[in-house]
Amino acid sequence: MSPLIDSHGRTKRKLRISLTDRCNFRCTYCMPEQPDWLPRKSLLARGELVRLAGLFVDQGIDQIRLTGGEPLLRRDLVECVREIGALRERGLRRLSMTTNASRIAPVAATLVAAGIDDFNVSLDAVDATVFRQLTRREVAPVLDGIRALADAGASIKLNAVVMRGENDDQVVPLLEWAMAQGLPLRFIEYMPLDAPGHWRRDAVVSEAEMLAAIGAQHTVEALPRSSDPASPYRVDGHYPLGIISTVSHPFCASCDRLRITATGELFTCLFSPIGTPLGVQMREGADDETLSATVRRAVWLKDAGYASRPGPVERTVTMHAMGG
Ligand code: SAM
Ligand code: SF4
Repeated sequence: MSPLIDSHGRTKRKLRISLTDRCNFRCTYCMPEQPDWLPRKSLLARGELVRLAGLFVDQGIDQIRLTGGEPLLRRDLVECVREIGALRERGLRRLSMTTNASRIAPVAATLVAAGIDDFNVSLDAVDATVFRQLTRREVAPVLDGIRALADAGASIKLNAVVMRGENDDQVVPLLEWAMAQGLPLRFIEYMPLDAPGHWRRDAVVSEAEMLAAIGAQHTVEALPRSSDPASPYRVDGHYPLGIISTVSHPFCASCDRLRITATGELFTCLFSPIGTPLGVQMREGADDETLSATVRRAVWLKDAGYASRPGPVERTVTMHAMGG
């Protein structure tokens, strides 16, 4: 089948699948303290997820990232990993996971053996008090999870969202901690996607501000950009740092991603106000050909992106249902 391409000439290679909207954390930039979960019955069953994932792989998607909510809250996670991983026979090249890592320690080695190629772990502060303020949870289980992943030989990247007045004083300590652990780190600008709708532009710590804070204590050298959403830097001549600056430098022109929510709704952009309900169509009996045609049409109509509509997004689907 021909690859998935949009009317702006961007070919899609990456798919993020939200396995569940549930999460054991309550990061303030993502969800309210008392979230309304999606009805359990509306969440895709494993067979449905794998079927949808397969349709995307058949159309040229070769990298899948499992996200959420928190993927570790899915009871059949290991089976999901094995069955989605089996799509390597159909062209999948890389299977990744984004996690808060707080529950990963007991299954780290199992997940690596089941086929996860790399893990992005969210760690917004190493200071326990700052971490608790941001996530309303404890940092210790996350650090245990990171250690367990490292012991299992996993490839790990750390992700940190930076918010003014919350953890902006953690930029340098987090960087120095990650450097000491030998783990690559990416800072992420706070995006207007939080379910509580508290986002304000002045809470965004821009890439330039992060670089200024780091540059006061370390040497920072900009490297040439690739198709990765993070701007790459080298710190102190050896350490790889990335900064994802969706707000100050949208990278929509090279976007090769698609997303499906835990209910199988296709979002062609993180900032789209509406999605395409593939899960509902599938449950109404649509065959693979019909579903694939729906995907191709939705992708073709993908709009230019964040650059075309900056600011908070009005929509019913939340970041934790969609997966960041
Ligand atoms: N629970 C997992 C985790 O936290 O890694 C996976 C899901 S979480 C929604 C995926 C990513 O989205 C995390 O790295 C998180 O920091 C990021 N994220 C959530 N809300 C965000 C926001 N408003 N701005 C920027 N990144 C955000
Ligand atoms: Fe949960 Fe991840 Fe959202 Fe934090 S960012 S509340 S860990 S889904």
